Amino acid sequence: MSKTFSIGGIHPIDRKFSKDRPIEDLPVPQRVYLPMNQHLGMPSVPIVKKGDRVKVGQPVAEAAGFVSAPVHASVSGTVADVALYPDFQGKRVLTVVIETEGDEWLEGIDRTSQLKQEITTVPEETFRKIKEMGIVGLGGAAFPTHVKLTPIEGMQPEYLILNGSECEPFLTSDYRLMLEHGQEILIGAELMRRVLGTDVNGIIGIEENKPLAISAMQKIAANYLQWKVVPLKKRYPQGGEKQLIDAVLGRKVASFALPISTGAIVQNVGTAFAVYEAVQKSKPLLSNVLTVTGSGPTIQKNYRFRIGTSMRDILYSAGALDPEGNLLPQFAKLVSGGPMMGKAVVNLQAPVVKSSSALLLLTEKETKRQEPGDCIRCAKCFQACPMHLQPYLLYQLALAGRTEELEKHRVFDCIECGCCLYTCPAHIPLLDQIRLAKNASLKNKRKK
Ligand code: SF4
Ligand code: SF4
Repeated sequence: MSKTFSIGGIHPIDRKFSKDRPIEDLPVPQRVYLPMNQHLGMPSVPIVKKGDRVKVGQPVAEAAGFVSAPVHASVSGTVADVALYPDFQGKRVLTVVIETEGDEWLEGIDRTSQLKQEITTVPEETFRKIKEMGIVGLGGAAFPTHVKLTPIEGMQPEYLILNGSECEPFLTSDYRLMLEHGQEILIGAELMRRVLGTDVNGIIGIEENKPLAISAMQKIAANYLQWKVVPLKKRYPQGGEKQLIDAVLGRKVASFALPISTGAIVQNVGTAFAVYEAVQKSKPLLSNVLTVTGSGPTIQKNYRFRIGTSMRDILYSAGALDPEGNLLPQFAKLVSGGPMMGKAVVNLQAPVVKSSSALLLLTEKETKRQEPGDCIRCAKCFQACPMHLQPYLLYQLALAGRTEELEKHRVFDCIECGCCLYTCPAHIPLLDQIRLAKNASLKNKRKK
C-alpha cells in the first residue's frame, strides 16, 4: 500500500514530458559565473582574484562559518572577475567569473564513470569530505549537507529518508538520476547513513507515478540490509521535508522544530549522488542535472551542467533561443524550478547554481493570470494547505501589515508550496502576499 501525508495537498497533472530523455552532458561553457550564495547560511568567501589561473575542482571560495559551504571551479581557465553580478531575479550577488581555457582537472579527482562500490572511508573522513567538497542539499533548499549530518544533543537519528518523490509537475532530473545512477545514489546514501550511526534505518520514498524508478531502486536496495523503498501516492507537496516524514513514518514535525526532533533526517537523491562523487571519487560539487521542459513537444531535455553555466547557454543548447539570443516567440516566460515553487527568470545571463533543478518554458496562455475576485469563503485554500494554516487569513493580515498577528497564526510555517493559490477559485494571489509578508518580517527581525 502506497503511503502519503495526512494534511492538505493537491493532485496537479504531472506533465513529466521529459521523463524518457536520458541525461545528456552539456558542452563545457566558455565562461562560468559562480555566485557566493548557492546555499543557505553565510555566503562563501572568494579566495581567488582576477587573473588567477584555476583547474577544474580547485576551491575558489571558502566556507564563511559552519553553516556555509565552499565553492569550486567547475571549469579550468582564468579568473576574469570577482564582483557583483545580477542573479536570475536581478539581485546583485558577489560572483567569481572564470573564462574557460581547456578542461584541466585538479589531480586526485576520479573522472571515470567506473562504479566504486566498496566503502573504505570511516564516518569522520566521509563527513570531512562532504564538508570540504561543498555538498549542499540538491532538493531545493541547498542547506549544507554536513550541517544536517551533525549530531544535535538529545536528538537521536533513527531514520535517514531519501527523497525520490520529485512531486513537482514537469521535473524529471531526479527520476533520470535514479534510473541511470541508482547504484551511486545508494552508495552515497549509505555513506550518509554510516555518518549518522550504524543503527539508523534507510528509507527511499518514491511516488508511484515512477514505477521504473521504484523497481530499479528496489533491486539495488535488496543488496543493502538497512535500506528499503517505500512507494508513495502521487500528491503534492510530498517532497516537502515535513510532508515526507509524515508520509513515510507517520510522525509530525512541530512548529519551529527541526525534522530530527522526530528522529528523521531527509536528504534528496541528487544529494546522495553528489556525496557518492565527493567521497568515492574525490569530486567536489561541480555539476548537477536539470530538466529543460515545457508543454510543447519539442524541447524536453535532462542535462548535466557545469555549475555556473549561464541559463542562456543552456537554452541555446536546448534550441529555445532565437538568433538574437532571446527566448523563441512561443515562450512568454522562463521559470527556474517547477511550476509550483519555481521563480520567474528576469536575467537570462544568470547562472544555474548547485541546486538548480529545472528551466521551465511557459507559453503566453500558461502565464496568463485570471483577474482576482472576491473571497467566497469556500475554505478550499485551508483544506489544501499541508501546514494546516489559514491562507486567506494570512493574506488579509499580510495586506494590513499586521506582523504580530501573522506570526501568531504561524506565517513562518508556510513552506510556500502554492497549494492555496492553486485551489483558490477566486484566483486571489494568496502566496504572493504571504511571501512578501514573510520576507518583510524576516528583514525586521534581522534589523532588531
Ligand atoms: S503556500 Fe503556505 S499557506 Fe499556501 S498552502 Fe502552502 S504552506 Fe499553506
Ligand atoms: S480558496 Fe480562495 S475563495 Fe476560497 S476561502 Fe480561500 S481565498 Fe477565499
